Amino acid sequence: MAKVYDSIILGAGWSGAVAARELARAGRSVLVLEARDRVGGRASTWTNKRGDKIDIGCSWIHGYNEGNPTRGIAGELGVTSHLPKAAENVIYGPDGALPADKAASLRGQLGAAQAAFKTPFPAPAPSASLASALFGAGSPLLAADAELAAGLARTLEVPLGLKLEKASLRWAGWEGATNFSGSDAAPEGGYEALVVAVVKQAEDAGAQVRLDAPATEVKDAGDSVSVTAGGETYTARTVLSTIPLGTLKAAPKGLFSPPLPERYAATVAGTHVGVLEKLLLGYPSAWWPRAAEVGGYTFLPTRDAASLGPNATLREVFDASTIITANFAGPSLPNPAPILLSYLSETPARAALAHSEADVAAAFHEFLVDRLRADGAPQPSETALTTWLTDPLSRGATTTPSIVSDNGERSPLDFKELSRPLWDGRLGFAGEHTEIENRGSVAGAVISGQREAARVDRLLAKLDAQ
Ligand SMILES: Cc1cc2nc3c(=O)[nH]c(=O)nc-3n(C[C@H](O)[C@H](O)[C@H](O)COP(=O)(O)OP(=O)(O)OC[C@H]3O[C@@H](n4cnc5c(N)ncnc54)[C@H](O)[C@@H]3O)c2cc1C
Repeated sequence: MAKVYDSIILGAGWSGAVAARELARAGRSVLVLEARDRVGGRASTWTNKRGDKIDIGCSWIHGYNEGNPTRGIAGELGVTSHLPKAAENVIYGPDGALPADKAASLRGQLGAAQAAFKTPFPAPAPSASLASALFGAGSPLLAADAELAAGLARTLEVPLGLKLEKASLRWAGWEGATNFSGSDAAPEGGYEALVVAVVKQAEDAGAQVRLDAPATEVKDAGDSVSVTAGGETYTARTVLSTIPLGTLKAAPKGLFSPPLPERYAATVAGTHVGVLEKLLLGYPSAWWPRAAEVGGYTFLPTRDAASLGPNATLREVFDASTIITANFAGPSLPNPAPILLSYLSETPARAALAHSEADVAAAFHEFLVDRLRADGAPQPSETALTTWLTDPLSRGATTTPSIVSDNGERSPLDFKELSRPLWDGRLGFAGEHTEIENRGSVAGAVISGQREAARVDRLLAKLDAQ
């Protein structure tokens, strides 16, 4: 007779890896089915011939000194994490690098505006956007050098994963007091190796892991659940889906049988997955200004975004965007390398994904050479461009706080709703999109894995006792 597992876990990213480890350590039989040919999901580390390792998915342990449980996991695995050394971030306006005091006042204006619009009261209309407040009359953001300040505010689109015009004002800063934030640290060797190590711990505790095994049907059979993946059908007493929200949104209705209840499906459809891609250009040597001193560069727009037509070139889109570029040759982290990593927020990311990596790299190299005014810069010797938005197994970077809505339906409670188990608890959900306080982060994924492992273990204990 076919084996009946205590639990089948769909996905081996952070949430699935942690859940598998905890359940296996609790003595439960676990099968992990992962669609990719590797574990880690949105934890992915790029390695070049020199052995430099750069995270192209998650990279920071946010709230490192403020209790993020990922710190403990890295510590248990003997992995050192590095708090970056303080280094200047140079802001480039249309006329070149801004003096440090001007950059500091612009940052001060942005900070004041963020504080002013944090959980505003009375609650703004659900259709009010963060842009309407930041760029509205009387905004502290625009107290001086309004154009530069407005450009700097667009840096918020990187963590948000969406345009300020779509970000809800009503829920701006709502999570700020309760999520893991403050200090950030980078795990040595990259984030992906940590997930690989957690999966190994799960296997050492007895869990089985199958790669290249995308679940195509998850069926409730009353007192058990069957999962079809890679041409095989497996049976378990419970199943835990860590399928990312973006992938769930695009999943065929028949993935779950019976289908997800209408209310759950409406929440899946209504919540939003943000866009963030990383573009990495590696060079034979670090040619950019003050390469050994600065932590990075922020490029403010030199062109009006409203002037761009539908056929705008990549270079025009980059010129009209605010782009943050991290300098890996700088002093922030150990093991400097001649590599620049740029964060492409929604608009430049969508433009980039419509072109080949080679074209994007060429256009961005030209942009960098012009903006940094560095004649004689060598061509990049290596490049990488992520495709989290078009990857069918992620379909975006991470969930993002409530978007503007006309009817007021959307709120952070959506992320709570997405964590509710179905089928009398036999079908559970974990993943960053299921943690109301820490959605969008590794902390959320880890906590959700721990939460669901504990819940499934309790449910199994209850069933055992019957
Ligand atoms: C560019 C970028 C930068 C980021 N930076 C940070 C950061 O600095 N700090 C931070 O805390 N967070 C960051 N994040 C967010 C963080 O990476 C995620 O929140 C976290 O990795 C999500 O883990 P997860 O387990 O929820 O999902 P995932 O890691 O996506 O894991 C889900 C797994 O399910 C698999 N899967 C999908 N469909 C199926 C199926 N049908 N059957 C079986 N398997 C399936 C997928 O292949 C995947 O492996 C970043 C994300 C991105 C994209």
